[in-house]
Amino acid sequence: MQNSDIMIIGGGVMGLMTAREFLNAGASVTILEKNSCGQEASWAGGGILSPLYPWRQAQSITDLVLPSLKRYPEIAADLFEKTGIDPQWTQSGLLITQNPDDELAREWCKCSQIKVETLDHDFFNQLKVDTLNPIFLPEIAQIRNPRFLQALKQDVLNKGVRLIENCEITSFTCEHNRIHDVHSNHGRFVVNEIVLTTGAWTRSIFQQLLIGLLDVPEIYPAKGQMLLFDAPPNTLPHIVLDGDHYLIPRRDGKIIVGSTVEYDVFHKEITIEAHEKLTKFAIELLPALKTAPMIKHWAGLRPATEDGVPYIGRHPEIHNLSLNAGHFRNGLTMSPASAQLLVDLVLNRPLIVKPEPYQFFRHLPNKSL
Ligand SMILES: Cc1cc2nc3c(=O)[nH]c(=O)nc-3n(C[C@H](O)[C@H](O)[C@H](O)COP(=O)(O)OP(=O)(O)OC[C@H]3O[C@@H](n4cnc5c(N)ncnc54)[C@H](O)[C@@H]3O)c2cc1C
Repeated sequence: MQNSDIMIIGGGVMGLMTAREFLNAGASVTILEKNSCGQEASWAGGGILSPLYPWRQAQSITDLVLPSLKRYPEIAADLFEKTGIDPQWTQSGLLITQNPDDELAREWCKCSQIKVETLDHDFFNQLKVDTLNPIFLPEIAQIRNPRFLQALKQDVLNKGVRLIENCEITSFTCEHNRIHDVHSNHGRFVVNEIVLTTGAWTRSIFQQLLIGLLDVPEIYPAKGQMLLFDAPPNTLPHIVLDGDHYLIPRRDGKIIVGSTVEYDVFHKEITIEAHEKLTKFAIELLPALKTAPMIKHWAGLRPATEDGVPYIGRHPEIHNLSLNAGHFRNGLTMSPASAQLLVDLVLNRPLIVKPEPYQFFRHLPNKSL
């Protein structure tokens, strides 16, 4: 089959955002997706555009988060204009009820130029909660991720991507440290540059189809379950983070309750335990939800790495293979800067952040980059 400049495997937020960056740079792009685009972790996520406690994350995560947050309003507006699909980027603010590391939190906000507001009692009107140094970050936004993914898909189609869905990869032909062909149920594709954006499936692709490589990314599935309540609009004005769980109010009143983190579970079955735990959390925190119907319960597979830092960059052994995967709990948040960094690396453009923290060898002190 005719080849593109760039072949991307996986059509989640990373695949679509990476494709968009390449297309914007004038490259031709093919995406192969084993199911339909935007139906896995990127669909299942909550769409909070911030790590839950950003000051507890590695600096390399902050380095991708801050430039991404700056770009989001423009990306969302551009997608709405070009596709007619509104991703509902909304600056609903993030209220954190329990904030034991107050000094660290305020210092991080100051260095990151993220506004912090002092709270009065009005904030807790609807909530039943014990607070500890509560903190409100009014600029933190959310995106309605299923719509964001639909808009991204339409945008890359408008820009001329060749998108092949239901395309299962069966093998690669590698010679002289390059991938020459990808074989699939849609035939053979000749490859120039190939980028894996295969989320939680990345490690199994290396293990099953790229056997014998020394450098296999340490990416594992971490299942997350969520609930959706159908509440009247304005039941809750802000995103609320209370301990390990959160509520996200959408514009139409629906409220997402998240989430569980279940390591090394490679299936998306939902459980009664998670349902009970999340329902109890939601109703205790926001008693108004007692009368709101619970309309959906789902699970998704996060691409987890040990420290939440993704792999972005070229594979050290296969010269035309790159990776943009392993964004764990913050892939929607970090997608603009992650895609930009990967594309800048492949096209040899100036880089927006230092690439070293995201490279394959980063955990191995005796290997040179
Ligand atoms: C419950 C939950 C809540 C979350 N909340 C948030 C949040 O509030 N904010 C935030 O920033 N992040 C959140 N996340 C994390 C975020 O969703 C992920 O980090 C992000 O979606 C990862 O994107 P991805 O494109 O790498 O993976 P995915 O969206 O999983 O996409 C990978 C794609 O690759 C395809 N694929 C895999 N193998 C192959 C193959 N062999 N051939 C072809 N295609 C293949 C898959 O079908 C899939 O479409 C959450 C995740 C979950 C599960």
